[in-house]
Amino acid sequence: MPDWSATALAPWAADPRSSRGRVHPEDAPVGRDEYQRDRDRIIHSTAFRRLEYKTQVFVNHEGDLFRTRLTHSLEVAQIARSIARNLGLNESLTEAISLAHDLGHTPFGHAGQDALNECMREYGGFEHNLQSLRVVDVLEERYAEFDGLNLTFEAREGILKHCSRRNARELGAVAERFLAGTQPSLEAQLANLADELAYNNHDVDDGLRSGLITLEQLGEVGIFSRHAREVTSRHPGLTGRRLIHETIRRMINSLVVDLTAESLRRITAAGPASIDEARRAPPLVGFSDSMAAEHGELKLFLRDSLYRHYRVLRMSAKARRIIGELFQAFMSDPRLLPPQDQARARQDAARAVADYIAGMTDRYAIREHRRLFGIEEAGG
Ligand code: MG
Repeated sequence: MPDWSATALAPWAADPRSSRGRVHPEDAPVGRDEYQRDRDRIIHSTAFRRLEYKTQVFVNHEGDLFRTRLTHSLEVAQIARSIARNLGLNESLTEAISLAHDLGHTPFGHAGQDALNECMREYGGFEHNLQSLRVVDVLEERYAEFDGLNLTFEAREGILKHCSRRNARELGAVAERFLAGTQPSLEAQLANLADELAYNNHDVDDGLRSGLITLEQLGEVGIFSRHAREVTSRHPGLTGRRLIHETIRRMINSLVVDLTAESLRRITAAGPASIDEARRAPPLVGFSDSMAAEHGELKLFLRDSLYRHYRVLRMSAKARRIIGELFQAFMSDPRLLPPQDQARARQDAARAVADYIAGMTDRYAIREHRRLFGIEEAGG
């Protein structure tokens, strides 16, 4: 039978037949390749289902139409896969990395991660990328023969987007590049940029929907105003949700088209003959300089106008308090942890508490806080 699985792969793509493999050796999968198996394991994991009730900027209960980390991860996978195909990259690996990239995120978005990092300052800190790797390497409890999901090297390498040098030394091969100064696979580079592209655009959408930012403000942002003008000249009189969506879809498209063209240009110029040559080259997936500047302007706008909006900051302050109080309560008496987490706490209490808190969804963290501190609540 002909093997169609790798026919569209470019020489610089990750090829499942020459994967660096899994930590615990397993039989080859039947009817799917190694990266498809990675993707399937991620989708079936508990941490993946929890993404539905975790958020980026807004807290889960603030409204049903805002992005959650689950819909965000799906958007990242969609954008990254479209581009992967045009760059001759491995779509399944790109998808696996995209779907897994946020698995280690705490409740309450960035505020939650900062708060947990603060709590863990004396105990080795907390990095959400490292936590995503920890989820797929250690924390998922599903298989008889190993902890975690036992993913391929290439998926793990892609999930570990950032890492301190201190942690890199402890992690070994998967983090070697942070010491050697090389790049991850092009699939990983792509998933990383697709993540940024997705959240900048959907934060504009969610920001407008929430009323925290306005179309007037966005008129000052180059990439938005350029596309909004194009929409109104084509559809005079268009307003409201349709104007916003027509503008955002054009922004996303222009970023995708630019990222594809610029990456193809760089890849062609460097001409890597293998994934390892691509790893040793400078970053080959990227935006053109002019698009990177426009995208950067949008990012700055979101930081100043949305992420630092007083209503977002109020929510962040609450999130910090909830995380900080949960951490203190469990640290001062680990017997308050559920039994399965107590076992881990006997080896390393702070890490076990951080793992437990990081795994919580927004609403679970709020409930757990109420159970511990609300005197009128049942303790269960
Ligand atoms: Mg993300």
